[in-house]
Amino acid sequence: MGRKNAAQGALRFATRAIHVGQEPDPTTGAVTVPIYQTSTYAQIAPGVHKGYDYSRTDNPTRTALQKALASLESAKYCLAFSSGMGAETTVMLLLKQGDHIVSTRDVYGGTYRLFMRAFQDFGLRFSFVESADIGEIERAMTKRTRLVWIESPTNPLLRITDIRAAAGVAHRYGALCLVDNTFASPFFQRPLVLGADLVLHSTTKYIAGHADVVGGAICLKDRRLHERLKFLQNAAGATPSPLDCFLTLRGLKTLALRMREHENNAMRIARLLKKHPRVARVYYPGEPDHPGHKIAAAQMDGFSGMVSFEVKGGLAEARRVLGRFRLFKIAESLGGVESLVELPAIMTHASIPKEERKKAGLNEGLIRLSVGIEDAEDLLADLSRALGR
Ligand SMILES: *Cc1c(COP(=O)(O)O)cnc(C)c1O
Repeated sequence: MGRKNAAQGALRFATRAIHVGQEPDPTTGAVTVPIYQTSTYAQIAPGVHKGYDYSRTDNPTRTALQKALASLESAKYCLAFSSGMGAETTVMLLLKQGDHIVSTRDVYGGTYRLFMRAFQDFGLRFSFVESADIGEIERAMTKRTRLVWIESPTNPLLRITDIRAAAGVAHRYGALCLVDNTFASPFFQRPLVLGADLVLHSTTKYIAGHADVVGGAICLKDRRLHERLKFLQNAAGATPSPLDCFLTLRGLKTLALRMREHENNAMRIARLLKKHPRVARVYYPGEPDHPGHKIAAAQMDGFSGMVSFEVKGGLAEARRVLGRFRLFKIAESLGGVESLVELPAIMTHASIPKEERKKAGLNEGLIRLSVGIEDAEDLLADLSRALGR
C-alpha cells in the first residue's frame, strides 16, 4: 500500500481527484468546472485563439477531466473519448496492415469483436494467449508484433497478469504494452508505474461510477505517442461531449471513497460465498487461494469490487438464484454505486461460442457480481436470500 500516495508530488490521490485540472473558473470564480457547451470559439485574429478552436479538437471541460485522470494514473497525458470502444478504436489506428497484436485471451467481449470483426479485415493479425502465463506471451511474440494488449483483472474470472513482466516482454520485441485498467481503476492499480506504455479505461465503469454516462480514456507518458494519438483522436472524432466530461469528472471526485467501499463490500461477499454450501467456486483476487493473488497483492493497492462465483447445479440453478435477488439488479456493465448481478453465459459473454466458453473456464453456472457501495449488511442479506439457506 501507499504507492498511490507517493506517485505525484506532495498531494495524495483523493486530493488530486478533486483538485487537479479543476481550479476555480478564472472569470467567475465558479468552484466547479463549467460545462462548456460550445462547438466553436471566437478567435482574436484569424488563426489566433486562446487554445481552443473547435470542440472536436479540444474543449475546456474535457481538458479538466484529462488533467485529473492523467494525474491519477501517474501519466503525463490523458485523452478522453466518447466510449471505451472509441478509445480502443483510436489506439488501433496506430497500427498498419501486417502488424501483429498479442492479447490476453479473456479480453472484454467488445475488444475481441473490434479486433476480429473490424480490424482483422484491415490486415492486422491477432494472437490470444493466457497472459497470466508470461511464457505464453513470449511464445506468441513475432518480429511483426507491435502491441501487447493486457487486461488485468479480467472479466469475469478475474485472472491476473504480471504487468511488469508483460511490459518487459513487449519492450524486448520493440512492441508497446497497453493495459485495460477498467476493472481496477487507478485507485488500485497504475500500470504506467509498472512499465506499461498505455493505460486504457472504459470510464463508464468505476471512474464515472454512477451508471449515468458512457466514456473512455487513454493515459500515457510518452510525448510523441501522445502527439500521434491526439492527432488520431481529432482525426477519427470519437470525442466525448462537454456534459459527458462534466459527469465523468463529477464521478471521479469520489473515486477514492467509492473504491474503498466497493472493496470492503466485495471482501465480505467473497467470504460469505466461500463458506456457502451451494457455492462450488469463488473468484476474487483478494482471496489467498486465488491463483493470481500473490501478483495482485504485489502490483495492486487493493482488489476492487468484482466477484464471480459458480453455483452448484449449473445454468438452471444460476437462473433461479438471479430471480431471487432484490437489491442486486440483473444488468450488464459494472463499477457503479449500485450492485449488479449477471450471468456471463447468457448475457455479457453470450456471443462467445459454447465450446470456446468452456475452454476458457466459463461454466454455465457462473454468476458475476459488481458489488456496489450500499450497506454491506443489506447486500449480504440479499445474497443469502438469493442463494437460499
Ligand atoms: C466496458 C468495457 C470496455 C468498453 O467500454 P465502453 O465504455 O462500454 O465502450 C472495455 N474494456 C472493459 C474491461 C470494459 O469493462
